[in-house]
Amino acid sequence: MQLLDGKKLSKKIELEITKEVKELKDTCGCTPGLAVVLVGQDPASAAYVNMKKKACDRVGFYSITHDMPETISQEAIEKTIEMMNDNPNVDGILIQLPLPSQIDTTKILELVAPEKDVDGFHPYNVGRLTTGLDGFVPCTPLGVMKLLKEYDIDVKGKNCVVVGASNIVGKPMAALLLNADATVEICHIFTDDLKKHTLAADIVLVGVGVINLIKEDMLKDDVIIIDIGINRAENGKLVGDVDFANVSQKCSYITPVPGGVGPMTIAMLLKNTLKAAKINAKERQL
Ligand code: NAD
Repeated sequence: MQLLDGKKLSKKIELEITKEVKELKDTCGCTPGLAVVLVGQDPASAAYVNMKKKACDRVGFYSITHDMPETISQEAIEKTIEMMNDNPNVDGILIQLPLPSQIDTTKILELVAPEKDVDGFHPYNVGRLTTGLDGFVPCTPLGVMKLLKEYDIDVKGKNCVVVGASNIVGKPMAALLLNADATVEICHIFTDDLKKHTLAADIVLVGVGVINLIKEDMLKDDVIIIDIGINRAENGKLVGDVDFANVSQKCSYITPVPGGVGPMTIAMLLKNTLKAAKINAKERQL
């Protein structure tokens, strides 16, 4: 069994980005900028935003966090997004999800300018992804594809079973695999007999949020496992959705949690922001 080391690869990608940021600054005086909207006091959301901010600092991006109270109105968030859409120092906009229940999340995500949508959640970018066109791709599944490529794992013709069908993980994961010529199945909470599906898989990619959902008797020998889940175990440790101790005896490759997909997600956020900044810099020069 070989570990798919997302921590190591993300460090390598950050070094490449740092170099490119320096070049961009030298050639056009532009500094890539990321604006984040954080609503409420959820500790997990605050921790994710803090990690993203630190990553921006490491590679030399400008970053700003709009911290908003839980009780904020729809109009106030919309106004902030419009302001960021118009701000030339902001290349990328990220809305930390989930938003409180009084907020219409779909409307908020649709308000982000598609060319600043570095999370790839705007329907414009979702459409471009599903039709195989260039655009902004959600960071977590994009990070998974980069990790597979780094280890020379070609998904073409492989049976890939994606477990979890959310808009931010499962669906874009399936679209990317399909675009790379894999045979793709998507399973979710209403899938009957999950084991029947996973047993036939060459690659299982799971992002659900259920500890030990995937066990070794649900898998064939030498399967490749991508564990996207992030859960807090009773002992306080971070764990994924896969029974790592037993599954790792059976598979050929597996992502650890932590240190697998998580760091790749942040690296891809940086990559998407740099991509937006480069496009903006080019447009400014025209
Ligand atoms: P979500 O709640 O929006 O979606 C969960 C999906 O899992 C749904 O499609 C649901 O149908 C499916 N599901 C739930 N229980 C199931 C079961 N028993 N069997 C099969 N399918 C089941 O969650 P999300 O935002 O997509 O996040 C999923 C997980 O991925 C969470 O653990 C989250 O923390 C993690 N995540 C990790 C990263 C990362 O960078 N590694 C990024 C985003 C999300």
